Amino acid sequence: MLHIHNVIKSYQDLEAVKGINLEVPKGEIFGFLGPNGAGKTTTIKMIVGLLKPTSGTISIGGFDIGRQAIEAKSILGYIPDRPFIYEKLTGREYLGFIADLYNMNAADIAERIQKYLDFFDLTEAGDKLVEGYSHGMKQKLIISGALLHDPQLVVVDEPMVGLDPKGARQVKQLFRDLCQKGTTIFMSTHSLGIAEAMCDRIGIIQKGEVIALGTLKELRKQADRDHENLEDLFMELTGDTHLEQLSGMMAAASS
Ligand code: ATP
Repeated sequence: MLHIHNVIKSYQDLEAVKGINLEVPKGEIFGFLGPNGAGKTTTIKMIVGLLKPTSGTISIGGFDIGRQAIEAKSILGYIPDRPFIYEKLTGREYLGFIADLYNMNAADIAERIQKYLDFFDLTEAGDKLVEGYSHGMKQKLIISGALLHDPQLVVVDEPMVGLDPKGARQVKQLFRDLCQKGTTIFMSTHSLGIAEAMCDRIGIIQKGEVIALGTLKELRKQADRDHENLEDLFMELTGDTHLEQLSGMMAAASS
């Protein structure tokens, strides 16, 4: 469903993404993890066509995001980490606007909008201006907008930010249901618990390179650690041991 082939992205003299290759099959939930500044958002922006790779190719469902942008974007849903919403629209109007962008069938639009408003308990808020929404309500609206046209690939940068526990559970359930129906999800997150609970496979990027790739079991094997949780594996694989050193130093200082 998603092919990333030898993709490089340079910002002036910084090579932020250094020739990565990834393939994500239909129906998979793929977790994209990495320390701050590793290149996750840069990669995501190239997948969804917001940034042009310096070299390499990306295709979605067989469509090249550079050369067949309309076809690729028509089967793509993107949930950014810092979304933009027109605040002077009501939630329902915002979703109607998104549906029009995707040329959705007019007969389906009202029904699908209502389905998502109901799912996220936004039915009443749906007729109020977005400017009065809380952060979590806006996030739910953004997620609804990204899923409205039934995309085949959903790309999510930090899906649970701003959601309360019920909202987070609703989104997890929604993503699982979508994958059961064959939708593919590419998700970047710093929440290792979410990645561990939800993702079929995980890729870890560090300094622009994919340094580990596979199921949790395969990552454990790669790190030669049988029983470690994802947090410990992440520290091990990224060599990020300064936190452990820091807690050791604090313990020594307080004793
Ligand atoms: P985080 O977890 O902190 O969000 P990330 O993995 O998403 O980080 P990116 O935002 O992709 O990381 O950044 C990768 C590298 O590219 C960083 O060194 C960052 O400073 C640099 N970078 C990102 N955007 C730009 C830009 N527009 N111009 C120059 N450098 C940039």
